Amino acid sequence: MFEKVLIANRGEIALRIHRACHEMGIATVAVHSTADAQAMHVRLADESVCIGPPAATESYLNIPAIIAAAEVTGADAIHPGYGFLAENARFADIVEEHGIVFIGPTPEHIRTMGDKIAAKEAMKAHGVPVVPGSDGAVTDDAEAARISAEIGYPVIVKASAGGGGRGMKLARSEADLSHALSAARTEAKAAFGDDAVYLEKYLERPRHIEVQVLSDTHGNAVHLFERDCSLQRRHQKILEEAPSPVIDDAARQDIGARVVRAVQEIGYRGAGTIEFLYEDGDFYFIEMNTRLQVEHPVTEMITGIDIVREQIRIAAGESLPFRQEEIRLRGHAIECRINAEDPLSFAPSPGVVSDYHPPGGLDVRVDSALFSGYRVPPYYDSLIAKLIVHGATREDARLRLRRALEEYVIGGIRTTIPLHQMLVEEADFVAGDYHIHWLEQFLAERSH
Ligand code: ADP
Repeated sequence: MFEKVLIANRGEIALRIHRACHEMGIATVAVHSTADAQAMHVRLADESVCIGPPAATESYLNIPAIIAAAEVTGADAIHPGYGFLAENARFADIVEEHGIVFIGPTPEHIRTMGDKIAAKEAMKAHGVPVVPGSDGAVTDDAEAARISAEIGYPVIVKASAGGGGRGMKLARSEADLSHALSAARTEAKAAFGDDAVYLEKYLERPRHIEVQVLSDTHGNAVHLFERDCSLQRRHQKILEEAPSPVIDDAARQDIGARVVRAVQEIGYRGAGTIEFLYEDGDFYFIEMNTRLQVEHPVTEMITGIDIVREQIRIAAGESLPFRQEEIRLRGHAIECRINAEDPLSFAPSPGVVSDYHPPGGLDVRVDSALFSGYRVPPYYDSLIAKLIVHGATREDARLRLRRALEEYVIGGIRTTIPLHQMLVEEADFVAGDYHIHWLEQFLAERSH
């Protein structure tokens, strides 16, 4: 096992990884920008190294500075968390070239899955159902029009290198298509330096359902059931739950088994998430994330499995300690993403947290790096806390979430807590009856 792990991240996820390391007897090295010198992830780590100025491009994305920090501190492995360098295949390559273990998949798998066209082809070839669309990139508008007519409007133009919900444009009819294509290409080029786009049938009322997998380097792979992440704004998840209220056990076992088979066939290593849209009883693959996800705690709460610990064990060459049939789904978990943003306009709200009182009690978990007096910097993602609750049933979890939200005090800045308080009371949410566009409609109704 590793003696020292460098955590190439900040905020709640850096803390999350630190906690897994310390429970395993592994020392941690924090890296930080000058804006984060007083941050909790720096305070709790055994050692810390300043890697640059506030801008992420010069600090948390600064590969030479991070490698130098690992070398100077003698770290055996690097955990990238999510975001920043987590899905950067070149970073994974460089880490390994320096004789340091990258806690994640092989650079090849990161590369393939980071190219959504290649990922779809790979999944399709291994028996995973995909959204109907162009098989490959579309470069020619006339060909795009022909394919769109074949799959049927509406269609969505997506960036092959896409992520974070960017580079996606809807075309309701042929009249919108060429504009959608050029807008998606421009956005993709600007955001990812790659203007390859492809077409997919646009699903009107699907749910976003994703399956968590773990795969070791000895040919063992398991799934940890599904998460439902359909409550989204601008294609970004706001609240997640596990299991999905609309998936029955037969469908769960079936999709889980298919995913495990595909992951084994491609020789995947580590933790990963296979994302699907789900409509009228059918699953359609959209992408695979080759990293730890923000919403991983809901899966941990229903399985009792520490996903970060398993990532570290797999990277150290150990075998999975359980077989599929030993993994039990227990109760229901819900996670709220709490952002430093206005709850309705979503305008960022950085600043000093004047009071801080997180909720507690049975089956309440808070993953956050906040403390009283902490200044939320304006430079990074606005996620400041995740509130996760577990209950014997979905309704128990919902009532516990409502109670925990009531207790949560984050003073001095605006947060999305009031939004979550509205959501937990909504009849559709109570019934589990929502889809990926539901939240946008809910917000639009409240903005007039
Ligand atoms: P990203 O990598 O940018 O997150 P994804 O491919 O994972 O992009 O899609 C993100 C979200 O966009 C999905 O959860 C869904 O809400 C929406 N979306 C993607 N593809 C489609 C589609 N074919 N039809 C309808 N919505 C889609």
